[in-house]
Amino acid sequence: MSHLVICQRCGEDEELNGKKVGDEIFVECQSCGLVWSRNLLPSCRKCSSLDVHPAFEAVVLKSRGTQLSVESSKLIYLCASCDIARLREYQRSNSPIMPKDLPNA
Ligand SMILES: [Zn+2]
Ligand SMILES: [Zn+2]
Repeated sequence: MSHLVICQRCGEDEELNGKKVGDEIFVECQSCGLVWSRNLLPSCRKCSSLDVHPAFEAVVLKSRGTQLSVESSKLIYLCASCDIARLREYQRSNSPIMPKDLPNA
């Protein structure tokens, strides 16, 4: 088992059992008994941490000239370690955060 997997309920990261059922990988926490599907949980693309938080990111389009306009927002997942700055920004503003890469003006 990868030690990057952490039980969302009790934080256990050692006593975890992985089992494959069909195409899905289930993880069972030996500590509290929580079972979850590995595939359904969002995880960080950089460090594979499951300690990610849903957030809304603004979808920014370049409009006329150099003006950027916010078209809509999309759901993203911010990692509590890799994206902590953006996560804090989101929690503070409680509104869609700006994408890292803005269209070139
Ligand atoms: Zn647990
Ligand atoms: Zn991460």
